[in-house]
Amino acid sequence: MNTHPKYERTLVIIKPDGIQRSLIGEVIGRYERVGLKLVGIKMLIPTPELIEKHYTLDPEWRTKTGLKTIKGYTDKGLTPPDTDPLKITAVILKNLINYMTKGPVVAMVWQGAHAVEIVRKITGGTEPLTSLMGTIRGDFVLDSYRMSDVDGRAVRNIVHASGSPKEAIDEINHWFRKEELFDYRLIVEQMLYDVDLDGILE
Ligand code: GDP
Ligand code: MG
Repeated sequence: MNTHPKYERTLVIIKPDGIQRSLIGEVIGRYERVGLKLVGIKMLIPTPELIEKHYTLDPEWRTKTGLKTIKGYTDKGLTPPDTDPLKITAVILKNLINYMTKGPVVAMVWQGAHAVEIVRKITGGTEPLTSLMGTIRGDFVLDSYRMSDVDGRAVRNIVHASGSPKEAIDEINHWFRKEELFDYRLIVEQMLYDVDLDGILE
């Protein structure tokens, strides 16, 4: 595999709320217009097993997310629902499985320079309440942990995007078979990556 940055790939999932909000085109357009290349795409209704495995591909996820959630509460001067991070993530995972299996999702693989970081920047922070304007989660949804925790459900934030290159590799392998991904040249890549920019003038 070529190690040039232009070959970096990342996984994006338009979640059931993104589909129901009719945002497929909008979301795809945002990744497309920055210059990324779509190398795989499919619609499916995820099984509970697919989602549980997706969130636990990183063996540290349960602990990290539990601790992050506790910190989120204490930083706001609030008492967390539990002191045990694993008990907190058990609830988060149950809610995530419930959310992600409720209807069709669109899973995609995007490729291009720094794909993981660029996609995270366009996607925005996890909690829509604080995701920046101009990002997908900042522009199209108004959910918060406070509200979703009270209601006993996962936060609705339109899309999933891989958090690191390592996570991206694991997640792409989890969601896509090799034959579902395509190596091809996109015309605009000449403008993005070609060193000499020759070929513009007739
Ligand atoms: P992402 O990569 O931006 O989606 O965020 P993470 O990988 O940190 O978390 C994955 C999912 O876990 C999020 O989409 C949320 O549904 C859930 N989650 C993460 N952190 C919290 C939290 O502090 N509170 C709650 N209730 N859910 C969380
Ligand atoms: Mg993540």
